[in-house]
Amino acid sequence: METYADLLTAIAPVSGKMRTILDPATGDAVGEAPVHDVADLERAVAAATAAQPAWAALGHEARSAALLRAADAVERSAESLAHLLSREQGKPLNGPNARFEVGACAAWLRTAAATELTAETVVDDGQTHAEIHYRPIGVVGAIGPWNWPMMITVWQVAPALRMGNAVVVKPSEYTPLSVLALIQVLNTELPEGLLSVVCGGRDVGARLAEHPAIGKIMFTGSTATGKAIIRSSADTVKRLTLELGGNDAGIVLPDADPKAIAEDLFWGAFINTGQTCAALKRLYVHDDIYDDVCAALTSVAAAMPMGVGLDETNVLGPLQNQQQYNIVARLVEAAKDSGARVLLGGNPTPEQPGYFYPTTLIADIEHNNPLVTEEQFGPALPIIRYSTVDEAVAMANALDVGLGASVWSADLDAARSVAARLQAGTVWINKHGAVDPRIPFGGAKQSGYGLEFGVEGLKALGVPQVING
Ligand code: NAD
Repeated sequence: METYADLLTAIAPVSGKMRTILDPATGDAVGEAPVHDVADLERAVAAATAAQPAWAALGHEARSAALLRAADAVERSAESLAHLLSREQGKPLNGPNARFEVGACAAWLRTAAATELTAETVVDDGQTHAEIHYRPIGVVGAIGPWNWPMMITVWQVAPALRMGNAVVVKPSEYTPLSVLALIQVLNTELPEGLLSVVCGGRDVGARLAEHPAIGKIMFTGSTATGKAIIRSSADTVKRLTLELGGNDAGIVLPDADPKAIAEDLFWGAFINTGQTCAALKRLYVHDDIYDDVCAALTSVAAAMPMGVGLDETNVLGPLQNQQQYNIVARLVEAAKDSGARVLLGGNPTPEQPGYFYPTTLIADIEHNNPLVTEEQFGPALPIIRYSTVDEAVAMANALDVGLGASVWSADLDAARSVAARLQAGTVWINKHGAVDPRIPFGGAKQSGYGLEFGVEGLKALGVPQVING
C-alpha cells in the first residue's frame, strides 16, 4: 500500500536545499521540504507559460475530463494524503478534519469540471448582438495558508485549470509537504509544467505577486498579507481574488433551542480546532437563553477529545504552529484578566509536547475585549450577552472584517431579516461555515474581494471578452 512517505520520496529538490518539517502534535520530523528561491520560481513560471497555450486549446470538455481523472487520482491516494496532512498540519484523521479535507479536494475538482460556463448573450435586439465570453488569463499564481492547505489549493487551482490557465502554487511555509504531495498526485493526470509548486517564503510570494508573466493572483491568507499583495501587484494591474481574515459573528435569537443548536454551534466555532477562516469566532446570545446556551455548549465541548491526529479517537488537534499558539494564549489571558468567566479550558499546559491549547469557552465578556475584536484562529470562543437585536447587529457589524456570519432561530423569517442586516459575504442560518462547491463564497469589507466556487468562481479565472457584432 502507498504511504505518505512514498509520496514524499518522489519530491525532488531543485536547488538541493531542504528543511525538516516538524509535526505540531509531537515535535517529530514529518519529512523534508525543498527550499525554493526566486530562481526556482522563474523556472516554474517559464514552464507554465510554455505549457498553457496547448492546455487552453484543448477546450472545456477535455480539460474537465482531466480534472475528473485528477479527482480519481486524489481518491486513490486519499488515505496517504490524509495521513501526511494530519502529521504536518496537526488536524486529526477523524471528524471534519484530514480525511474530510482530502474528500473535499476531490469534490471541488469534480464540481469545477461539471460546472457549465457558456457565452452569455447580453443584447440581441435584431440590430445588435453582444455576447460575453471568458478567455483564459494565462498563468495564475496561487498563494495559500496553512490551515486547510490541500483544500484551499484545490479551491484556487481547479477553477484556474478548468478555465484554461496554467498555475504556479506558493504554499505556506508551515505546510509545504501537504501541497507538494497533493500536486504530485494531480500532476499524474496533467501535462508537464502546467501546474507546479514553489516552496519559498514571503520573498517568493511577493515576486509571484509582482511578476509580469502572472495574470492573476488567487490569495487566501491574512488581511495584512492581502494588502501587501495589492501593493506588489499594482504595477502589473494584476487581477486578484482575495480571501482574507475573518472574525465571524453568530447571533442566537431568544427563540432558539439551546440543546438543539449546541453541537452545530460547537462545530461552527471549533472546526479544525478553530483554525478556519469562516469559523464562528464571537457568539452573541440573547439574555433570556444565555445561561442555557452556555451550559449546552459547555457540555458538548467538554466531550470532544483533543490529541494527536493519527489517534482515531480525537476530533480536535493542536494549533499548527507556535506563533498561533501564542496568539490564542495571549487573547485568552487578556479575557481572563478583564474578569470574564471561564466556562471551560483556559488552562494550557505549555510543558507538554505539541501546540495543544485546551478547548476554551469564555462567558460574560465585554464586546470590546481583544478576544472578541481580534481574530483568535484557535479553540477559544467568547460568548457575549445581548438584550436587543439592534444591539447584537451593531456589535456584529462593528469590525472592519466581514467574511461570514450566522443567525440561529426557530423562526426562519426572523432569522432572514436579521441576516439581511449583517455585513458579511455569507450569512448562514442555523449553521456556520458550511461551504459548498456550487455556492459562491467571498468576503465583505476587509475580508477580501472576488468570489470563489460555482459559475462565479469560474468567471473569476477568465478574462471577460465582449464580442459585439
Ligand atoms: P499569511 O497571510 O501569513 O500567509 C499566507 C501566505 O502568504 C503564505 O503562503 C505566505 O508565505 C504568503 N505571504 C506572506 N507574505 C507575503 C507577501 N508579502 N507577498 C506574497 N505572499 C506572502 O496567512 P496564514 O497565517 O497562513 O493564514 C491564516 C489567515 O488566513 C487567517 O487570517 C485566516 O482568516 C485567513 N484565511 C482566510 C480564508 C478565506 O477563505 N477567507 C481561508 C483560510 C485562511
